[in-house]
Amino acid sequence: MYRRKLPFGFECGDGWFVLLWQLSERLDAQARAAGLQLGAHDHPCATQVKSKFARLRWYGDHLNEAMDALIEEAGAESGTVCETCGAPGRLRVLQHRYSIACDDHAPPGSHPA
Ligand SMILES: [Zn+2]
Repeated sequence: MYRRKLPFGFECGDGWFVLLWQLSERLDAQARAAGLQLGAHDHPCATQVKSKFARLRWYGDHLNEAMDALIEEAGAESGTVCETCGAPGRLRVLQHRYSIACDDHAPPGSHPA
């Protein structure tokens, strides 16, 4: 898994774990398709994963176009998943701070954006 390779760690909620898991599997598959060996110096790896402006951001090295597309896809998907628990969520705003949350995890006082 990518976690151990990350110098910065995962700066997002556990609710996005499945999204991240699926993304790393797809990136691995893409790397295999491109003939890259796991552990090779040019194998894709994450340098930083975080939640920024209520969207999953995945920064990495050695990414090709197909991998960029997968990351883009996961980022778009993160907009519908509660960052806290992984249930279906929506964009909410509280004092200009955006987050994706289900009804249970909506920050008190926030409203749908
Ligand atoms: Zn939730």
